[in-house]
Amino acid sequence: MPLKLYDTMARKKRPFIPADPRRVTMYVCGPTVYNFSHVGNFRPVVVFDLLFRLLRRLYGEDAVLYAANVTDVDDKINAKAAEEGVEISVITERYLAAYNADAAALGALPPTAQPRATQTMDAITAMIGRLVQNGAAYAAEGHVLFNTQAFGDYGKLSGRPLDEMIAGARVDVAPYKQNPADFVLWKPSKPGEPEWPSPWGPGRPGWHIECSAMIEQELGLPIDIHGGGIDLVFPHHENELAQGMCADHPEAYARYWLHNGFLNMADEKMSKSIGNVALAHDLLKTQPGEVIRWALLGAHYRQPLAWTDDALNQARNALDHLYGVLGRARHVEAGGSAALAEEQLAPLMDDLNTPAAMAELKRLASDLDAAVRKGAPNASALKQDMMALAGVMGFLQAEPQVWFQGGADEGLKTQIDALVAARDAARVAKDWSEADRIRAELTALNVEVMDGPAGATWRIPTLKTGEQA
Ligand SMILES: [Zn+2]
Repeated sequence: MPLKLYDTMARKKRPFIPADPRRVTMYVCGPTVYNFSHVGNFRPVVVFDLLFRLLRRLYGEDAVLYAANVTDVDDKINAKAAEEGVEISVITERYLAAYNADAAALGALPPTAQPRATQTMDAITAMIGRLVQNGAAYAAEGHVLFNTQAFGDYGKLSGRPLDEMIAGARVDVAPYKQNPADFVLWKPSKPGEPEWPSPWGPGRPGWHIECSAMIEQELGLPIDIHGGGIDLVFPHHENELAQGMCADHPEAYARYWLHNGFLNMADEKMSKSIGNVALAHDLLKTQPGEVIRWALLGAHYRQPLAWTDDALNQARNALDHLYGVLGRARHVEAGGSAALAEEQLAPLMDDLNTPAAMAELKRLASDLDAAVRKGAPNASALKQDMMALAGVMGFLQAEPQVWFQGGADEGLKTQIDALVAARDAARVAKDWSEADRIRAELTALNVEVMDGPAGATWRIPTLKTGEQA
């Protein structure tokens, strides 16, 4: 059963066959680091992390090269640096660190490379030089522009005919452009803004050339998979493709183009609604990263995703259930299975069908729960399969105990542990009134005690989203 991926260029699902299975390459457009990122910007992070994990499983952990860039020079970064009166690197370091911390909290593995625009200037100017040499770019008034007439297939990826784009671009066309659809490869910086040397004068690169040069430098062209949000198809990816093909890579640029759909914020008017907390950074203060990851993967990646309190509540409930099963199966040693039969992986192999894969994960959990209850011998194999599928999807990465007690700080945990132990002792001594008194004290701390054969365990039930204090 081969992996099938929907290719935006082909407009259909195609079996994924890498050019070299020992070196599978993927590039995904990353953030411009001038602020905390919107939760919608983390949808591609989580979707392509899932694909990265699946490819690592199929081809081997060391066989997959995944580069995700960082745009660390840009008008918005310049504006923010000017506002704070600091170098742009102060801004970009701060928000790149925050971005990477948020991505890690959402269970995203670090990409194998995270190139930055400011560290790729030589490759960028070299690529522009080749485009000029090949007649696909021209210098004018301190700018270098890509000549869209030089690439016969311009518009093929997005399905927009060039004359239509020209008609749409008639307003305010810069006078140095030969054709209205031509786009900037290099431009002069404004006074006081950072600039780099180039054969066409000091300045900085346009956004599109950054990605093409990084791909060439980090992975080599053509790559197997190019990914990003659906809003990047035009103009960003159309322009990347044109540049790459005209810069001495006429055979191909990316062999598969993958795009994720939009995340639509809920139009929830309640001030306490978390469905309209826009920044992942803020959302992570009240929600475990796995809950947000589950909600982000809750719809098929190509579909629009409605971001609501309900989606987050459902994610929390689903994970609470899975962790509950795992807690009850904590004495079962995983093993005795090849880990993941074809049928268990089948939903992901079909263009990353995450809703179906989540259903499969829940089915494995129900079967495991039943096997544990009955003491059935297949519990080990079921646990192994469940953990293997969860691992490919980036779920169940915490210990069940930690999952349920994650909201408590160390001091509170020590206090609760002591109370639970005192209550256990009172119960052993059959001092029921003392046991009840302690239970009431625990309830007052919002702690739920669960008595089991191996002694009592406890958890702090989650505050339901939308009703936080
Ligand atoms: Zn890009």
